[in-house]
Amino acid sequence: MTGLVYKSTGSWYTVKTNLGATYQCRIKGKFRLKGIKSTNPIAVGDIVDFELETNNDDETGVIHNIHERTNYIVRKSVNLSKQTHIIASNVDQVFLLVTIDNPPTFTSFIDRFLVTAEAYHVKTVLLFNKVDTYSEETLDEVRYLAHVYRNIGYECIGISAETGKNIDKVKALMIGKVSMFAGHSGVGKSTLVNAIEPGLDLKTKAISSQHSQGQHTTTFAEMFDLSFDAKIIDTPGIKGFGIVDMDKEEVADYFPEFFKLKQDCKFNNCLHKEEPKCAVKDALDRDEIAISRYRSYLQILEGEDEHYRTDNWEE
Ligand code: GDP
Ligand code: ZN
Repeated sequence: MTGLVYKSTGSWYTVKTNLGATYQCRIKGKFRLKGIKSTNPIAVGDIVDFELETNNDDETGVIHNIHERTNYIVRKSVNLSKQTHIIASNVDQVFLLVTIDNPPTFTSFIDRFLVTAEAYHVKTVLLFNKVDTYSEETLDEVRYLAHVYRNIGYECIGISAETGKNIDKVKALMIGKVSMFAGHSGVGKSTLVNAIEPGLDLKTKAISSQHSQGQHTTTFAEMFDLSFDAKIIDTPGIKGFGIVDMDKEEVADYFPEFFKLKQDCKFNNCLHKEEPKCAVKDALDRDEIAISRYRSYLQILEGEDEHYRTDNWEE
């Protein structure tokens, strides 16, 4: 039988088949997926093959195969000798909630998040929440940011989880897909999930791009079926989404508008900093690349991103 992993408690996995039957499954013996070393061999979102166990009354199963993942999101535990934990796999999209005020979301935070999502091959949609509370001036800021990110290729929607504005658009994007919600604490993730599916009370302290160093939580991700052919993965207690090991040369590959220009730089190992004849710097000079994006890039390159929350990117 084949099913989708909805929940994992370490040794047991809740697996649901296409027909909607749910089984508790475990792994027998040594079971390792090629390539990635992690503390958990199977994660929420995995598609697995399993056999029902005979000679027991409970309907339990033994997993013997994992289907290839389209993507997966990991968290590294610094405490546990840098072991990798797979938070979720086969995630179709992450909705990153952004608020201009209460709390402020800085572009450095957004960009770090997007870099990580690109590295994980997870599609991100930007939701500018709380538009019902903004002044015309703040709305201009939303429009400007939406313009910047749309130009790069990210879908942007102004919403209000409180009044319901554009929630139908978010729901339409969710149909047939597995979604996650991310953003700073207080941006409205719980309120939004409640507007999307009243009654579904998530513990959603969902992922943000913050470093999770020194933090280890024992809570587990869980997948939920919504009433309209959509799935949500809730990730209580998980803050870290932002730790991805990458080489300096790799960072620009995850800025799509930089990546496009890469082959036009004089040096093929161009870091787009001080090098002559750099296509990225030229595009920046022509205002074709947003200065906030370029600053975020330099910040990530210099490894100063821990300070992003206190940084002020105002011109
Ligand atoms: P979370 O920490 O991301 O889950 O944020 P919450 O959903 O708990 O929201 C934080 C606060 O913002 C709550 O007081 C919500 O009522 C409020 N809030 C969330 N979305 C909106 C919105 O679109 N408009 C307004 N005015 N308030 C909102
Ligand atoms: Zn360059």
